Amino acid sequence: MVTSEKQTQQTRSGRTAAEVRADFPILARQVHNKPLVYLDSTASSQKPQVVIEAMNTYYQTYNANVHRGVYTISEEATAAQERARVKVARFINARHSKQVIFTRNTTESINLVAYSWGNANIHTGDLIVLTEMEHHSNLVPWQLLAQRTGARLEFVPVTDDGLLRLDIYQQLLEQRPRLVAFTHMSNVLGTINPVQEMIAQAHAVEAIVLVDGAQSVPHLPVDVQALDADFYCFSAHKMLGPTGIGVLYGKRALLEAMPPFMGGGDMIRTVKLHESTWNDLPWKFEAGTPAIAEAIGLGAAVDYLNELGMDWVQVHEQEMTAYALEQLQQVPGLTIYGPREIGQRGGVISFTLGDVHPHDLASILDQETGVAIRAGHHCAQPLMERYDVPATARASFYVYTTKEDIDALVQGLHKALQIFT
Ligand code: PLP
Repeated sequence: MVTSEKQTQQTRSGRTAAEVRADFPILARQVHNKPLVYLDSTASSQKPQVVIEAMNTYYQTYNANVHRGVYTISEEATAAQERARVKVARFINARHSKQVIFTRNTTESINLVAYSWGNANIHTGDLIVLTEMEHHSNLVPWQLLAQRTGARLEFVPVTDDGLLRLDIYQQLLEQRPRLVAFTHMSNVLGTINPVQEMIAQAHAVEAIVLVDGAQSVPHLPVDVQALDADFYCFSAHKMLGPTGIGVLYGKRALLEAMPPFMGGGDMIRTVKLHESTWNDLPWKFEAGTPAIAEAIGLGAAVDYLNELGMDWVQVHEQEMTAYALEQLQQVPGLTIYGPREIGQRGGVISFTLGDVHPHDLASILDQETGVAIRAGHHCAQPLMERYDVPATARASFYVYTTKEDIDALVQGLHKALQIFT
């Protein structure tokens, strides 16, 4: 990680945080006659102008289906979609772009593995190890797989400080699970898990490892080869790209051996009335017309993040998070969930404010101050149960977040305290 003064102030191409913010047109709008302060990037990020333009250009100048046409604009669309795949592969340092499968989102990527790899490899009595901090999308597909196959699920507990109990992880590995699946970064606690060590430990007992990278790829430099992940999943919409496209990265031998997830056009080589053969990777897993504009938008988002530099992104968010933790601690009655150590967490802060319901808090912040935060269980109901809360409020940061945004949040919380107490 790079933490030099220069890097905290300027992006890789020498731009300032204020210049970066100006790239996001939505941030110029008002809500309830106040400037929009967007603190919900964990749910979905905003999009820079270059991403919007890349998608518009496709629709305006070379809109056509991919792979099927031998005419110019179809070839242009196919080339643009495949260029996006190569950009994504380089961004996460995949060995080959064939290992990058376009899905709809992280959820579909995980379901693809649970059905295709899971149905073929998980049997009655097999153990699948997960953690208590998983998003429902890295929990429910494994519950369904366990119900289909008779496999067992075990969970790594979370400490009061929002860290995984790695001692219990070790004990569970001694039972030789077939599969281990965990999140790289928690969407509730902000915890960044020590995934490289966890993967190595799982491989030592010959388990296959799936990492939910929905919150890590947008915010940290990620190198799938250095991590040695077997499967790694993420969504474009959380990394400045559009909704409707996500990625499944997998080790080539695993992907080659897996049967298709969905059948239809594009994923076949030959089709007869009673049987078919499958296309090569990655198309074997991409049935039907793909999200073409969205792939192009994702490619533009990757270019944009590369221009900022992922080291800059990480350092900028650490600065925002450190500032927010300091400011939030001054608010009377506010409880923060998750690690306090800046090195152990990313830019997601979940909190409760006395007895104020998080939904009421989020409404007041929106109406009185134009601040958008999330409130609820954040698709992590077991984690809410672990901390014995029905819901939390959650503020999250990204490349366009400023200290003024965090000041607006804190002012809004003081206002809420006046209203509710
Ligand atoms: N995993 C984590 C950690 C997430 O934060 C999210 C979304 O919030 C998901 C998975 C699911 O992402 P998507 O809804 O894009 O499939």
